[in-house]
Parts: sequence; structure tokens; C-alpha cells
Amino acid sequence: MDHAFTKLRPGCIEVICGCMYSGKTEELIRQIRRCEFAKQDFLTFKPEIDKRYSEDEIVSHNNESLQSIVIANAKDIYKHVQHTTRVIGIDEAQFFDSEIVEVATKLAQHGRRVIVAGLDTDWQGRPFGPMGELLAVADIIRKQYAICVQCGESATRTQRLVADDSEVLVGSFKMYEARCRDHFDPELSVRLASSKAPSKASSIHP
Ligand code: ADP
Repeated sequence: MDHAFTKLRPGCIEVICGCMYSGKTEELIRQIRRCEFAKQDFLTFKPEIDKRYSEDEIVSHNNESLQSIVIANAKDIYKHVQHTTRVIGIDEAQFFDSEIVEVATKLAQHGRRVIVAGLDTDWQGRPFGPMGELLAVADIIRKQYAICVQCGESATRTQRLVADDSEVLVGSFKMYEARCRDHFDPELSVRLASSKAPSKASSIHP
């Protein structure tokens, strides 16, 4: 594996973060497309857990897509990185464990541009998985904002709308919406869960 890490300076870690629908995937795809124009070799990855829209593509909520490699663990990235790989994009980084911090750091130290996109907070407004650590070690941070569906202001939170208090519940439009801090209600789905039997949504819990 290490033979692939010939130093290509300068390496860096860029983190694209924000709530759902804030354009993280769109921005990741935009950055990778620019690499295509620059004729830089790139690879994009996504976690196994997220197969909402496609098995082997990163897909944004405005339906842009990009071929990607599905991996179970962050360390699987090493198996794919070649001597010529300059840029590594990772989507939905919040679903990996903290190993991704070590992997991103090592890749950057070996000259790769690592672009990581992920939800910075979860449905309860807490730091999501390894995102806090990734933000701490990042060289560049892009915070994206969605539009609050309640008031039209900038949204920074992901509101869960279904009666399910599972820690991880992969879903989209009917299950989550973007909200500003004022309209974010982290207790909503807990209240819904305690007031009725589990909804059908819980059956897609990974
Ligand atoms: P993320 O990866 O952050 O979930 P995507 O890049 O997949 O976001 O999707 C961004 C797109 O989602 C926007 O360009 C827009 O078309 C759509 N969208 C849907 N709901 C909203 C919203 N509440 N605020 C902003 N964009 C939204």
C-alpha cells in the first residue's frame, strides 16, 4: 500500500460541511469536475451505508451525479489510491468512524488533495461522527447553508420529521428537512415516536 504514496506536494484536507440540502454533494461534484478539466487523476468514495439514490454514484439532491467507489471502511481507500492519484473526494463522511481522520491526514501528508463532504450535525444538532475531528484538522473549510423550509432564512440544521429516534436513519425528502436554528426542533421525532407506534420509516434503518 505505501508504495502508492510517493510525495506529491502540496497535500491538504478540505472539508465541505453543513446540513442536509445545503449543497455539500453539489460542491464536491463541482470541485471534482474542476479536477477533470485540470486533467488531475481523482477518485471519489462513499460509505456502504448510503445507497439512497445509487449503488455506485454520488448523487446530489438536484440530481447531479458522479461515479464513486463504495467502501465499508475509510482504510479501504488505500487499496484504490495509485501513484498518479492527485485528488480524493469522500462523500457522506459522517457515516465513517474516526479512522477517516487518520486516513485523510496520511493521504494529505503524502501530497494528496483530500476533499471530504459531510453533515456537521446530526438530527439532534450534535456533532456528527468524525466530522468535528475532520474540521479540526482541515486546511480549508467550506460551510454550506440550505434554506429553512419554515421561514426562508439560512438553514444550518437537519430536522428529522419521522417518528424514529434511531441514531442513524438514512433518508431524504420525506424524512428530513432543512431548518434554521430557531425552527429546529430536536425533540420532534422523539415526541412522535413516543406518541405512536413506530412508523414504516423505521424499517429502512440500516
Ligand atoms: P447536501 O449534499 O448538502 O444534502 P445536495 O448537494 O445533495 O445537498 O443538494 C443541494 C440541492 O438541494 C440544492 O441545489 C437544491 O436544488 C436542493 N434543495 C432541496 N431543498 C433545499 C433547501 N431547503 N435549501 C436549499 N436547497 C434545497
